[in-house]
Amino acid sequence: MKISFRLKLIFSYIFVILVSFGFIAFFLDNNLEKNSLQNIQSSLVTQAHLIENQIPLEYLKQEDIPYLESLVKALSARTRSRITIINNKGTVLADSDKSQAEIPQMETHLYRAEIKAALTGAIGIESRYSSTLKMDMLYVALPVTDRNEVVGVVRLALPLESVQKTLFATRRVVLIGLILAVVLAFILGSIVAGRTIGPINRMIQVARKFSEGEFSRKINQASKDEIGELAATLNKMAADIEDKIREIKSQNQKLSAIFNSMIEGIIVVDRSSCIISINPAIEKIFLVSKKETEGKVFLEAIRNNDIFDIINRVFSERKPQSAEISLILPVQRIFEVNATPIFDNNSASGCLIVIHDITEMRRLETVRSDFVANVSHELKTPLTSIKGFVETLLEGALEDKENNLNFLKIIQDHAERLNGLVDDLLSLSHLESKEITLNKKSFNLRQQLEGVISGFKSQLKKKNIEIKNELPDSISVVADKERLEHVFINLLDNAIKFNKERGAIRIYSQEEDGGIKVIVDDSGIGIPEKDISRIFERFYRVDKARSRELGGTGLGLSIVKHIVELHGGSVGVESAEGFGSKFWFILPK
Ligand code: ADP
Repeated sequence: MKISFRLKLIFSYIFVILVSFGFIAFFLDNNLEKNSLQNIQSSLVTQAHLIENQIPLEYLKQEDIPYLESLVKALSARTRSRITIINNKGTVLADSDKSQAEIPQMETHLYRAEIKAALTGAIGIESRYSSTLKMDMLYVALPVTDRNEVVGVVRLALPLESVQKTLFATRRVVLIGLILAVVLAFILGSIVAGRTIGPINRMIQVARKFSEGEFSRKINQASKDEIGELAATLNKMAADIEDKIREIKSQNQKLSAIFNSMIEGIIVVDRSSCIISINPAIEKIFLVSKKETEGKVFLEAIRNNDIFDIINRVFSERKPQSAEISLILPVQRIFEVNATPIFDNNSASGCLIVIHDITEMRRLETVRSDFVANVSHELKTPLTSIKGFVETLLEGALEDKENNLNFLKIIQDHAERLNGLVDDLLSLSHLESKEITLNKKSFNLRQQLEGVISGFKSQLKKKNIEIKNELPDSISVVADKERLEHVFINLLDNAIKFNKERGAIRIYSQEEDGGIKVIVDDSGIGIPEKDISRIFERFYRVDKARSRELGGTGLGLSIVKHIVELHGGSVGVESAEGFGSKFWFILPK
C-alpha cells in the first residue's frame, strides 16, 4: 500500500499528539481523582470530629432518639452531608436523610466496613454504592468514646457525584483539546505537506520526462531550500545526460557508418554464439539478410563450420585467432578471418569476427609468380641456344666454313627474339605502371593502317596473303597514335602469322554506340573454343612451340588489351578453329 507523504506527516503529528495527550490525560485523571477524594475525605473527617464533639454522650448512651434526630438534621443542613448516628451494637439511632418512622426498618450497620472500623476505635473510611440512596457515596465513620470505651459511631456520608463531575469536566476539556489539536495537526500537516509535495510532484513529472529522453523541460528551482538544491542538481544531471546521449549518438552514428561501409565483413556474436550484428558486407558474402540472421545461433544463420571453429577457439583460448578459409558457395573465394574476444569484466562476453576477402590478393600473387616463371622460361630458351652455338663455334666450328655463318644466323635470330621479348616486357610493364600518360590527338585511322600494312609487305607476299583495308576514308579517331600503331602491328602480325598460305585479311569498322569498333578478320587457323577466354592473358598461347617458332612472345595480345583499355575501350575475339578469327577493339569517341 502506498501511503502519501501528506498522510504520513499528518499521522506522525497525530501520533505525537495522541501520545502526549494520553500521558497528560492519564496523570491528570489519576491525580485529580485521588486528590479530590483525599480532599473530600479529610474535610469529612474534620466535620466528623466536629460533629462527634457536639453529640452529648448522655443522649447517646440513653439513646434519646428525638434529640439525636433533631441534632443530625440541624447539622446536616449546615454541612450538606448525610449524618448517621449508630449505637455500639450497629443499630441506627438517627439519620439525617431518614424520618424517625423509617429508622427502625433500617438493617443493622454492624457489618458495614466503616462502622466495623469505627467500633474498633479507628476512623473508618469507605466509598461504595449506597443501595439506600442509589448512588456512589463516601462514608467516614468516627467512634464516639466515653473513657476509652466506644459508645457509638457518628458517620458522615457525601455523594461522590461532585468528584465525578469534576473529573468529567476535566476529561471533557482534555478531549476538546485533543480534538482541536488533531484538527490543527491535520490542517498544519496538510499545509506543510502541500508546500513540500507540490514542488516534489512537479519534479517527479519532469524527472519522468527525463527518463523518457525528453530533456527540453527544466525543473523550476525557485525555492532556496533543499528542494531548490535538489531541482538544480536534477537539472544539471539532465543536462549532463543529454550531452552524454548526444555524444554517444554521434559516436554510434560514426561507428555504424564505418560498420556499414566496410568492405570487410563483420560479425558480432555473444557468449552463446548467437549473432548480435552483421554488416552489409557479410550479407553479400554469405547471401543472408541482417533480419534473418540477427538473434540466431551462428551455425543456424551462417552455415560455415570453419568460422564456427574459430569462434569456439576464441572463447576457449580467450585470445585473438586468425585463419584462412575458402568458400565454395555461393562463389569460390578465399577469406582471411580474424576473430577477437570482446571482454566484459575480464570474461569473454562475445566475439568480433572480421572477414577479409583475399581472393584477388591470392590471384595476383599467383599471377606474379606465374609471370616470373614464364619470363624466366622465355628467356632461358633463346639464351641456352645462344650459349650452345657460341660454345660450338668456340670449340672449332668457327673454322667450319660451311656452317659457321649458319650458326651465327641462328644466334642472331635468338638474340632478336630475346630483344623482342625484352621490348614487349618493357612496353607491358610501362603500360601497367600507373604513371603512363596518353598523348591523344585526332588522326585518320585508315591512313595509319595503310602505313602499318606497308610495313608487313614482305611477310604478306611470302605467304601470298591478300589484305583489304576497308576502313572508310574519313575515319578519324582521337587517340595516342603511336600506341594505336602498336595495336595494329600486333593484330596484323598475328593475323599473318596464324594465317594459311593464300589466306585473306580484312580490316573494317562498325559504328558502336559511343565508339568505333575496328575488326581484323583473318582466314587463319582460328582458336579452339576452350582457349578463347584466356587468349588475352600474358604468355598464353594455344600452341607454345608453334608460336615460338613464329617468333611470338605470347605478350602481343595482352599489350593490345592494355593499350585499348587505357583509351577507355575494350577488346574481344570471335573465332572458330579452322575457320579464321575476328579480333576487334572498340575505341570510345
Ligand atoms: P604471340 O606472340 O604468340 O602471337 P599473342 O599474345 O599475340 O602472342 O597471341 C597469343 C596466342 O593467341 C597465340 O600464340 C595464338 O595461339 C593465338 N592467336 C593470336 N592471334 C591469332 C589469330 N589471328 N589466329 C589464331 N590464333 C591467334
